[in-house]
Amino acid sequence: MDYKELANLIFPNVKDSSYYEEKYPERNLKEGAMVVRFAPSPTGFVHIGGIFTSVICSKVAKQTDGVFILRIEDTDQKREVENGVTGIIDALKKFDLKPDEGMIDETNSFGDYGPYKQSQRKEIYQSFAKKLIEEKKAYPCFCKQEDLDNMRKKQEDAKLRPGYYGAWATCRNLGLDEIERRIKNGEEYIIRFKSPGNPEKKIKHHDVIKGNIDFPENDQDIVIIKSDGLPTYHFAHVVDDHLMRTTHVIRGDEWLSSLPIHIQLFQALGVKIPKYAHIAPIMKEENGAKRKLSKRKDPEAAVEYYSKEGIPADAAKEYLLNIANSNFEQWRRQNKTASIDEFELQLNKMSVSGALFDMIKLLDISKAVISRYSKEQVYEMADTWAKEYDKELQNLLEENKEYSLKILGIERGNEKPRKDIAKWSDLKDNIEYMYDNRFLNNKIDYVYQNINDQEEINKILKEYIENKFDISDDKQTWFNKIKDVAEKFGYAREVKEYKQNPENYKGHVGDVSTVIRIALTGRANTPDMYEIMQVLGKDSVNARLNKAIS
Ligand code: GLU
Repeated sequence: MDYKELANLIFPNVKDSSYYEEKYPERNLKEGAMVVRFAPSPTGFVHIGGIFTSVICSKVAKQTDGVFILRIEDTDQKREVENGVTGIIDALKKFDLKPDEGMIDETNSFGDYGPYKQSQRKEIYQSFAKKLIEEKKAYPCFCKQEDLDNMRKKQEDAKLRPGYYGAWATCRNLGLDEIERRIKNGEEYIIRFKSPGNPEKKIKHHDVIKGNIDFPENDQDIVIIKSDGLPTYHFAHVVDDHLMRTTHVIRGDEWLSSLPIHIQLFQALGVKIPKYAHIAPIMKEENGAKRKLSKRKDPEAAVEYYSKEGIPADAAKEYLLNIANSNFEQWRRQNKTASIDEFELQLNKMSVSGALFDMIKLLDISKAVISRYSKEQVYEMADTWAKEYDKELQNLLEENKEYSLKILGIERGNEKPRKDIAKWSDLKDNIEYMYDNRFLNNKIDYVYQNINDQEEINKILKEYIENKFDISDDKQTWFNKIKDVAEKFGYAREVKEYKQNPENYKGHVGDVSTVIRIALTGRANTPDMYEIMQVLGKDSVNARLNKAIS
């Protein structure tokens, strides 16, 4: 028997690898187009780091007229959960990240380089494993777990590197006759790669993010096909990224240390090595130390967190771009209303050591993002969110859509739009007081500030409502009237006057308008009070101020 016959004995029914080379030809894309993929395992948990990787993949693909692939890596079937693929697809949809090729549900995909789920590509991997066996670059290994455990023990005792390499790789040197006999005897085996590496020698690698790195060559005869016939991550990665014609492997830097293996495998198959960009994980600061954002400890690590809180996808994406490229912030300052699609992301400007996750910053960005939405957009997004997470808010918004739109339109669409909403879960509290059927029927806890004597307050409110308030006033006239009220009761018309001679006044116009604001809304902080009154209308303003008086 020769190696070709051995390969046939092991994989009798697979097509020749040349078949796949032809089926998945080089892509016909313009110069510089990047073909990238997000390749998660369907473990049931989508980490925000996965969205980070996808944002980056989708961005560079779009920027270069390239291709963004969604590939599902389900070769470790122990870790798989039911509907895990759907979970990933839904998460990408929520963030409006649209792959150009890849899985569309648990079993189906679209694109010419599929299937895009590794368990559906078994034959393809076997075809390439067969080629390696024919070329004496891979071999069957019959070692049992027990043998491997014994070997490891001996290595530990002798203080040697653990693993299946060199003289320890016992099945590497089995004769063809013995192999044939054991296979025909029905012994279980796996396929290992015969590593040509020498760890005394170094390989040089240039990573797009990490820069130049030296590694010792790999000499481990790693498993490429497991006993269930499926490939290991290493082999699947190399075969898939070759056949999908990936130009840039963008992945988590936990894979960086496996790179010498991957480079060897590409070389053994005689195919082009893609570029690599290893992304550092998103970090979190805790007690002054940095650690990875953790699925167990940090709710914001899960993508559901963003949906539940009602943080718009645009805001989360903008935040992720912010931590991806530090020049994003400056770009945003110079392009206040531009779509993030216009920002040019650069992989080589990404952080080598991992950006810090900062919720306050994220919410600030979210406020700015929401401030750029029209009132109709706010209405639609908030209502969609409320339908799923907050029925009361949904009722509030839908009872009188026209009125709700007016509320949402306050200080919006102008040069300096309101920035008081960071997430849809804040919205109810932010607008509830504007609805008379809630405000007038509820007991309001008025917490007055500088002026807090109820009699004084009543005098101010009565004077305002009986002698001054007129819904048809323009803003200037409206404010002058509040100044009149202030003056009448001994408060300065202007803050400046008050500051110059505080002893002459009980306070200033700001104190008076705060009284009116709190009486009107039950709160000290609101958007523009003139606009609020315009939206509430004459009767509501009257009723509200009278409620505060009584
Ligand atoms: N399935 C691997 C993971 O989830 C993919 C790594 C890669 O992108 O190659 O970490």
